[in-house]
Amino acid sequence: MRQKKFVVIGGGTSGWITALSLRQFFAHAQITVIYSQDKGIVGVGEATTPHFVDFLKETGVDLADFMRSVGATLKKGISFENWNGDGQKYFHPFKETLREFSIPRIFGHTCFDFYLKKLIREQLPLDDYTYAARLAYANKVDVDHCHFAFHFDANQCANYLENLARARGVQVVVGEFRQAVQDSAGNITQILTQDSAFECDFVFDCSGFHRAIIGGVYGQRWISYREHLPMKQAITFWQDADPSFPPYTGCIAMKAGWMWRIPLQGRVGCGYVFDSDYIDADEAKREAEHFYGQRLDVRKVLKFDAGRYENIWVKNCIAVGLSGNFIEPLESTSIWLQLSLLLTLRQFLSNIDDLDSHSTALFNELIGQDVDEKMEFVYLHYLTKRQDSAFWRDFREKTVLPQRIARLLPFIKRGDLKFHNLRSADLPSHFALRSYVSVCAGLGLFEKPMAIEHLDTIEPAPAAYKAQIESQLQQSRSQAQFLEALGCPVAPGNTEMSTP
Ligand SMILES: Cc1cc2nc3c(=O)[nH]c(=O)nc-3n(C[C@H](O)[C@H](O)[C@H](O)COP(=O)(O)OP(=O)(O)OC[C@H]3O[C@@H](n4cnc5c(N)ncnc54)[C@H](O)[C@@H]3O)c2cc1C
Repeated sequence: MRQKKFVVIGGGTSGWITALSLRQFFAHAQITVIYSQDKGIVGVGEATTPHFVDFLKETGVDLADFMRSVGATLKKGISFENWNGDGQKYFHPFKETLREFSIPRIFGHTCFDFYLKKLIREQLPLDDYTYAARLAYANKVDVDHCHFAFHFDANQCANYLENLARARGVQVVVGEFRQAVQDSAGNITQILTQDSAFECDFVFDCSGFHRAIIGGVYGQRWISYREHLPMKQAITFWQDADPSFPPYTGCIAMKAGWMWRIPLQGRVGCGYVFDSDYIDADEAKREAEHFYGQRLDVRKVLKFDAGRYENIWVKNCIAVGLSGNFIEPLESTSIWLQLSLLLTLRQFLSNIDDLDSHSTALFNELIGQDVDEKMEFVYLHYLTKRQDSAFWRDFREKTVLPQRIARLLPFIKRGDLKFHNLRSADLPSHFALRSYVSVCAGLGLFEKPMAIEHLDTIEPAPAAYKAQIESQLQQSRSQAQFLEALGCPVAPGNTEMSTP
């Protein structure tokens, strides 16, 4: 059989995870990654979700080695700070598995959301009565009873994945994509760089914001999310490492958007995402400096249009990563979207040879739904009570409420948010119900007592569960101790190895 030829354009996170995923399924294929050193990678995208850990495990990566090599820390969720303008914070945790509750599973779900609803009904603080939040705010980690993700240095991660891909026989070419030669049906037969030609059966466009093929060659329709999500720019800056290595991404609401804080081993990666209709990059910098009480060096100013291509699979090409869509950084959805695209693709691998239009249309529909839901969940975070700046005062008036969130809001308001409400609002529920509950509770969107009268006797009761949390917390290590035990350079002196 002829050796299949894949060409991946782009050497950012999306390019490498695409090449490594292809290698898993096509052991004998020729896989070539072409990337431009001059253009470089965008260099942001340092907070992930547990799906990335799953990907590394499945790819056979030693997690401890990965963490040591890319300056990584563990992440237990996201801390949303001052989103209602009252100085308060709330935590959106990853799943915890300290123990099960006495509720029969519904469709395989553990129903942790019922416990959260019980807490809300009894006016108990979620962040004190849930293990992931307690751990996170105590700067502790526990890899056995909580799902976790990584924060990492984007450049180091790209280098790590490139080395891995090379070791697995992926051909790597540093070069500039110039042209796609197409046959009469529009399929790409050759990729031309400035000095070489690469034959291909299938192409993956991972060219980031350059959007070389799906946009550049095929000129697909862009569906902008700007009417919903008005963020248009971001400044990025670094701060000195935080020696307590908080195991969460910080998301701090600001006057015209929000700032991220991503604690890595050697630094904290920071940025301010804002609506440039209200402030410019200089004003964003000044506001961030005022917030931190220190001078900041802006590394990059990035501009973007939140949205997605209507079709990311066209002819024999699929766009993965920023070349296909970008919402905004809130909730770290981008690498997750890349991974779920590649996971979905597994069911369509036979269509890579047999390009039938029904399958590509179905694939485009599924991916489109996924991106749309993530955008809508991100939108939910902006339904805050802030009124302290023109941006926040105008937000609800100037943006269009996504239809499915509009359908969901009455259920949220009356405290009756169920799995089936997500379904009846047509949300494919890639975010678990407990995620919706955490964010709505944090923002104070539930206006009526939670409708869970039938579950008043949930076991363990909150007090008992909290006792278990506190006992487990005593046994957990701080993130600093955890990194030290891995032999990370932040804590020299102890080279003992353990796998997270
Ligand atoms: C402000 C901001 C914050 C973000 N934060 C997060 C986050 O916390 N979590 C998250 O999951 N995602 C985040 N993202 C998205 C994140 O950047 C991406 O998920 C990902 O890490 C990088 O995507 P990529 O590989 O598609 O693009 P890039 O990293 O930009 O890679 C593009 C590659 O294509 C190459 N290329 C481009 N044009 C050509 C050409 N003509 N010829 C050859 N090569 C070419 C480039 O050289 C580069 O190698 C953020 C994005 C922004 C803008």
